[in-house]
Amino acid sequence: MKYDNENIFAKIIRGEIPSDIVYEDENVMAFRDISPQAPVHILIIPKTAEICMLGDCEEKDVQILGWMNLAAAKVAKQEGLKSFRTVMNSGAGAGQTVYHIHLHLLGGVDFGEGIV
Ligand code: 5GP
Repeated sequence: MKYDNENIFAKIIRGEIPSDIVYEDENVMAFRDISPQAPVHILIIPKTAEICMLGDCEEKDVQILGWMNLAAAKVAKQEGLKSFRTVMNSGAGAGQTVYHIHLHLLGGVDFGEGIV
């Protein structure tokens, strides 16, 4: 998929739309989801990589995927989460609505056995 610079997360990165940022470094930023599905629901996104979704990733994207996952672990610790879940939707059929790759960090609730 062709990356669209006008997607909502690109606007958040550029500061054109406000967000509740909880973590930022040179590679990624993390902010609270506007419509939380758990007591803690944070989105982790790359700041410079223009990737629409996981399904578009190639070998060149390995590092940013790693930075995103490491940021999720750091933010989980920062939020005091002992357990947490990460989810990455790839494509409309998986529920993806924003086409700037992102990792959902969910916590603060007992997910039990879940479905996976
Ligand atoms: P997706 O469904 O693409 O995996 O996840 C997109 C997420 O972005 C959704 O959970 C949605 O609530 C969140 N979201 C959409 N627009 C905004 C926004 O303007 N600000 C924030 N913080 N989250 C947003």
